[in-house]
Amino acid sequence: MTDYDVIVVGAGPIGSTYAYHMANKGYSVAIFDMKNRIGEPLQCAGIVSTNITLTERLPEEIIYNKVKGAKIYSPNKTLLYVKKEETVAYVLDRVYYDKYLFQRALDAGTTPYLSSRVLDVDMENTSIKTIDNTYTSKIIAVAAGPVSSTSRKMNPDLNDESFTAIQYTLDTKKQDTQNVILEVHNELLPGFLWKIPVTDTKQRLGLFTDASYKTADNLLRNAMNDDDIIIEKHTGLIPKYNKDKKIVYNNTILIGDSASQIKPTTGGGLIVGSNMARLASDKSDLMLKDNDNNHLLEYEREYHKRYDHEFKAQQNVQSIIRELSDDDFDYMFEQLQEHDVDKIISEYGDMDTQTPLLKQLVKSGIIFKLLPKIGVRRLKNIWKSL
Ligand SMILES: Cc1cc2nc3c(=O)[nH]c(=O)nc-3n(C[C@H](O)[C@H](O)[C@H](O)COP(=O)(O)OP(=O)(O)OC[C@H]3O[C@@H](n4cnc5c(N)ncnc54)[C@H](O)[C@@H]3O)c2cc1C
Repeated sequence: MTDYDVIVVGAGPIGSTYAYHMANKGYSVAIFDMKNRIGEPLQCAGIVSTNITLTERLPEEIIYNKVKGAKIYSPNKTLLYVKKEETVAYVLDRVYYDKYLFQRALDAGTTPYLSSRVLDVDMENTSIKTIDNTYTSKIIAVAAGPVSSTSRKMNPDLNDESFTAIQYTLDTKKQDTQNVILEVHNELLPGFLWKIPVTDTKQRLGLFTDASYKTADNLLRNAMNDDDIIIEKHTGLIPKYNKDKKIVYNNTILIGDSASQIKPTTGGGLIVGSNMARLASDKSDLMLKDNDNNHLLEYEREYHKRYDHEFKAQQNVQSIIRELSDDDFDYMFEQLQEHDVDKIISEYGDMDTQTPLLKQLVKSGIIFKLLPKIGVRRLKNIWKSL
């Protein structure tokens, strides 16, 4: 006899989403989080493409702002402006979003354990240990974020890397609320700097990078206007996608950032993680019905089938841009502008999947104009991954 059918470690957006789906299917679910205030502190730019509504209902009050485009600046400030007529992304009240997803899981019947740090996950016996108790279940889903020790325990020999992310929330003078600003800085590559308009006078200014904390923090300060005021400052980690990472062992699964389910080029994890929480819950349901944990391995297989191709292409793009100089970027941005690529990007660009855009750039021949900078071998790599 187990204490619960399902134990979820971590009540971030992905753990709460998985818990909700499992409780909704009628299983007894317990969710553990070491925090006592879910979602706090904010550690996210909170921007998601409108594709999120394909799988999640977003209450209006969670949406702070709706953006239609991005102004992307090269190191020497050449502008590439991509936009659509309609909204392309939502800027979320991410703290409230986490609370909403958590409450939704509780309303579906999940039992909460707050201020409860999980000290160990026993993947042989499907149990967890907190400071004062041991709990057993038939499935454990670990959604404990990028530094989960269970993730490392499941992948002892894997070099599990992350980007550093820093973000300030700023009080700023009036800003353009329709567009996100992205800045390419050589020191940050393959990461970049973002300015997300939350309201007329509130902005999330952040970046992710492999560079040192000091370099990154200096860049952020330089990107501020003289009269901007920092209201909050947070640092976090963005795990790097690694196709060799195991995400299932016996009856324990990893989801969300614990599984490094995150888009390589943008560092966005909310949509991928939420899709994978749904997939994992479907396979967990089958596992519990058939008492056959091969269904959990299907979760791992389907995850790879769905994302390996796209993420590999994104990683190829990243490895190319990592080596470009400021001049290379300016040359590329100028070429892209000259050939109206902003229009192609506006039509085929998608925050979540970038292979349709890459295919279109190859098809239209524009990518060959960038050949001197990209190089034939590298272009072949992109080509092969499409
Ligand atoms: C600065 C920054 C900006 C970002 N911007 C975006 C963005 O704009 N759009 C986007 O899509 N993604 C963004 N991301 C990524 C996104 O935040 C993550 O992909 C997302 O939070 C993953 O959710 P999760 O539930 O897997 O993990 P988390 O949100 O990290 O939640 C993990 C939870 O587990 C709990 N926990 C951890 N260890 C234990 C333990 N031992 N016991 C009990 N509880 C534990 C934690 O308290 C936490 O509540 C950003 C990330 C950073 C760092």
